Amino acid sequence: GDEDLDTVVMPLPSISASLEGTQFWMHIYLEAVEKLQSWFQLPNGNWELGKILSTSGTESTISLPDGKVLKVKTESLVPANPDILDGVDDLMQLSYLNEPSVLYNLQYRYNRDMIYTKAGPVLVAINPFKEVPLYGNNYIEAYKNKSMESPHVYAITDTAIREMIRAVLEIAHPLKKWVIDSANLASLSAHGLIASLVFFGGESGAGKTETAKIAMQYLAALGGGSGIEYEILKTNPILEAFGNAKTLRNDNSSRFGKLIEIHFSETGKISGAKIQTFLLEKSRVVQCMEGERSYHIFYQLCAGASPKLREKINLKIASEYKYLRQSNCYTITGVDDAERFHAVMEALDIVHVSKENQESVFAMLAAVLWLGNVSFSVVDNENHVEPMADEGLTTVAKLIGCNVGELKLALSTRKMRVGNDTIVQKLTLSQAIDTRDALAKSIYSCLFDWLVEQVNKSLAVGKRRTGRSISILDIYGFESFERNSFEQFCINYANERLQQHFNRHLFKLEQEEYIQDGIDWAKVDFEDNQDCLNLFEKDRGSINVECKFHTLSSYKSAEKPLGLLSLLDEESTFPNGTDLTFANKLKQHLNSNSCFRGERGKAFSVSHYAGEVTYDTTGFLEKNRDLLHLDSIQLLSSCSCHLPQIFASNMLTQTEKPIVGHLYKAGGADSQKLSVATKFKGQLFQLMQRLENTTPHFIRCIKPNNSPSPGSYEQGLVLQQLRCCGVLEVVRISRCGFPTRMSHQKFARRYGFLLLENIASQDPLSVSVAILHQFDIMPEMYQVGYTKLFFRTGQIGVLEDTRNRTL
Ligand code: ADP
Ligand code: MG
Repeated sequence: GDEDLDTVVMPLPSISASLEGTQFWMHIYLEAVEKLQSWFQLPNGNWELGKILSTSGTESTISLPDGKVLKVKTESLVPANPDILDGVDDLMQLSYLNEPSVLYNLQYRYNRDMIYTKAGPVLVAINPFKEVPLYGNNYIEAYKNKSMESPHVYAITDTAIREMIRAVLEIAHPLKKWVIDSANLASLSAHGLIASLVFFGGESGAGKTETAKIAMQYLAALGGGSGIEYEILKTNPILEAFGNAKTLRNDNSSRFGKLIEIHFSETGKISGAKIQTFLLEKSRVVQCMEGERSYHIFYQLCAGASPKLREKINLKIASEYKYLRQSNCYTITGVDDAERFHAVMEALDIVHVSKENQESVFAMLAAVLWLGNVSFSVVDNENHVEPMADEGLTTVAKLIGCNVGELKLALSTRKMRVGNDTIVQKLTLSQAIDTRDALAKSIYSCLFDWLVEQVNKSLAVGKRRTGRSISILDIYGFESFERNSFEQFCINYANERLQQHFNRHLFKLEQEEYIQDGIDWAKVDFEDNQDCLNLFEKDRGSINVECKFHTLSSYKSAEKPLGLLSLLDEESTFPNGTDLTFANKLKQHLNSNSCFRGERGKAFSVSHYAGEVTYDTTGFLEKNRDLLHLDSIQLLSSCSCHLPQIFASNMLTQTEKPIVGHLYKAGGADSQKLSVATKFKGQLFQLMQRLENTTPHFIRCIKPNNSPSPGSYEQGLVLQQLRCCGVLEVVRISRCGFPTRMSHQKFARRYGFLLLENIASQDPLSVSVAILHQFDIMPEMYQVGYTKLFFRTGQIGVLEDTRNRTL
């Protein structure tokens, strides 16, 4: 945005040129009258640009584009920007920063395939839902050479790289210190040595994942050479196959969060990468809504496996598997699963997953599918069940490498320790199904983690860490459905955290710019979302940890308030805790919190920054406990195949290393393990810490319609996203300050000819000040900085109007 208005302004006719004919004057006059435009909201909520025909008192007469003439309340009109500001690159350049103007500006650009717009420091990307001619080598070159400057994900990525390189020259090199330790980490990150590109806030289908991939391509093109960049790009098809699924909102919806940290060498080449994933939605493996699909890889495998592989892992077509059959959806329009399967295998080759390991992976996938086909029959008059000894059971046993009897036992009984004795309890049908599904989910999520680990091994950064990296965060956006469950609860909590990071950071940036230019600027207090975070996170603090776990039953509500997460963990430890007792406990403890509202039955609502969400607690405790009974873990560890053994030992290390203070006792006599919510909170805190140590660049993706179809721009939908993902917040912050900036030179050039008196000095600053005085711009409406003039909202609009009238 440093080029300010120059990029959009028509070349000014010089005074002599404008005197050439009266026709020219006529033209200017008509244009000036037509400039009296205003936004008017139609009953359907959309905004229309109306011409003000006359204003008398509180009423105005306007004409709409369709020719209609209306009398409206003057106060309901919202000022529109002068035409010269149509489609500005950066919303900060708008004189009037109101919702209709922002919406109009984005739409103006979107209609011209300019899907990227800056909102001050934030890049807004509107999903085109079609191929737009903005990518590829020519564009990469253009942004690299700076011959192209319009907002683009390439441009923001380029900024991140350049900051990193500059920081290396300015900071790291003088220090002669390539090995970065925690002591100098903070100072280096403050100088952009460690950058991050943060894609978040956009709802499902907004384009976060695609845009993140485009950024990665730019990084790979600029930092390429070692070959590792190719491997990094190939992680995308792998992770998408195992972690993405078709949902009602997005055919390729990411069901996990991802942070990829790309490291650079001293010479600015990519030296390696590391991927961290968050909260894979594992319930999808066993349960899936009508019209959605489970993870892509299952369908890809079923469609694309070679006859040899099919035989080896006893693979059928997708519709033979109950887990895949339940949602009644097997294909995605325009996607060839078999072809994708080959692409995934090729990508696995590239990241050095051996053919043998690949086959083990496919065997695990088949085992999960066959587990879903295991059915049970009642064996006594107490409704206890046993698995049927059919193809499902025998195939699972074969694929994981155990004998059928052991598998049968693990799926139909549970060992309990009572005192020093071990008793064997038989399972009822619903218990057995839960056990089977829990095993399937665990195998899948362990497989996912294991794969990420293999990929990381292949991408591992060498010993000589330079500390230079760019991280890309692609995390699920805020979700609000008709029915919201534990997954939405965690996802929205994460977004609440990220939103806080966003707010704080942007606010800080804003203030820094004023300080740098010597602007006298009263700090504006920013309304943050701390209350909502407190609602989630409050606990009694580490001092009370001991008492928390030993005196649970004597805990009194009158003591310090607990947050949602602590209460959830607490209830999860009670053997008799149910979703209903949990909901009641929330109502009992949290009713005084303004962000919380108890709802009927098992539900409660939270006022998130992005809107109120009602959660149904059904399944919360079970999902939070995420129990895999010791019997199942033991089964896996006794298997002859190596993956189940690795999974079991990973589960056990997770289980046996409880962190004091987050200790969670899972279901009576079983193992102790971290709850899902606590683990997630821990990961989130780590992530926030890492982000805090980077110079962030935010990209907000927006979905222009729900169809999805190219070319359609629904104002209401866009506005809702702009509001909830905070773009309008940035605008709001700017309104408190001085959003319009223009260098002294530009200001003098643009408005200097309006000066009535010649002033002695020709230096831009003096000319600028003279203009300000001549036009009686109130002192509180602007500030003169060292290099720029800073104006409050609307001030440039006034000057523009004056200029138009004077011309
Ligand atoms: P999110 O990750 O936010 O849920 P995705 O990145 O998966 O959304 O995008 C959803 C779909 O939108 C993609 O599958 C693609 O069809 C389309 N899309 C997103 N960004 C672009 C883009 N820049 N150009 C063309 N199509 C896009
Ligand atoms: Mg995604």
